[in-house]
Amino acid sequence: QAKKAGRNTLRFFDPLMQETINMRVDLERELKKAIEQKQFELYYQVQMNSAGQPSGAEALIRWRHPERGIISPIQFIPVAEETGLITQIGEWVLNQACLQLQAWQLDQASKDFSLAINVSAKQFLQPDFANQVKNSIRSFHIDNTKLKLELTESMLIDNIEYVIHTMNTLGEIGIQFSLDDFGTGYSSLQYLKMLPLSQLKIDQSFVRDLATDNSNKTIVLTIITMAHSLGLNVIAEGVETDEQLQLLNAHGCGNYQGYYFSEPLSINEFNHQYMQFKNNPHSTFLH
Ligand code: C2E
Ligand code: MG
Ligand code: MG
Ligand code: MG
Repeated sequence: QAKKAGRNTLRFFDPLMQETINMRVDLERELKKAIEQKQFELYYQVQMNSAGQPSGAEALIRWRHPERGIISPIQFIPVAEETGLITQIGEWVLNQACLQLQAWQLDQASKDFSLAINVSAKQFLQPDFANQVKNSIRSFHIDNTKLKLELTESMLIDNIEYVIHTMNTLGEIGIQFSLDDFGTGYSSLQYLKMLPLSQLKIDQSFVRDLATDNSNKTIVLTIITMAHSLGLNVIAEGVETDEQLQLLNAHGCGNYQGYYFSEPLSINEFNHQYMQFKNNPHSTFLH
């Protein structure tokens, strides 16, 4: 007993852990301020089709901290999820994405662009989520079919029926769904058949060693074949080399995203790169 209590006390005063707790509290407080002061920004990473044309982008959030500079979502999205602040951040992302789709749709050169946003479980499971999406779409007068929501397998586990219900509600008005980081979670093939998805997104961990690791190659080819037989399209994320692109292309992957084409860019940089591409169609998006 005493020994156990002693250990707990010791752990409580562990300076390292205390520091971790303090950092958490600071981060939560700063996130609240960031929401109020609108310190977030969306970056856009181009998605390419097999004809070598940009078909749209994925929006990726950045936090422009007044002192610490740009902070990656990997550092703050998990805290936003734990604290529930993700619902406010997610709603901002949704509106910002719809605003950008509206701008693209008003321009002949980009009117067919699709835009994918990442949706956290907590955000998607809010009772009001489908209405939020409908309201955003309505207020920006955008073509519904160009908005794509990226979900992850983990959010399906305990909520499959509710998730399907919400997906159907949004699917009926043309919203598309992509299953992000596919292959890293636990979704069974049974789930895949039940979900009204339009796309599987092959996780970058499989793409990374595609050319050197034979089992990854097999996994990727299997995902592509399976997706196509379920009537889904496939996008590979994390494409960094020409070799990866050629392999994916040879096996009919069809859609690609990664540093090989472009990193995520600010909207001004993105539109600028796209204009350059338009003026020189022989170039890839980036080079
Ligand atoms: P994700 O949705 O799987 O996004 C892909 C991540 O891989 C992005 O990191 C992207 O910048 C990076 N990436 C793209 N191409 C390459 C490549 O060729 N090589 C490598 N090594 N990496 C590449 P990022 O922007 O740091 O985002 C990380 C994660 O944060 C996202 O993973 C997503 O889960 C989450 N996230 C980003 N934006 C949002 C958001 O608006 N809402 C929510 N809920 N989550 C977000
Ligand atoms: Mg994503
Ligand atoms: Mg991903
Ligand atoms: Mg990821």
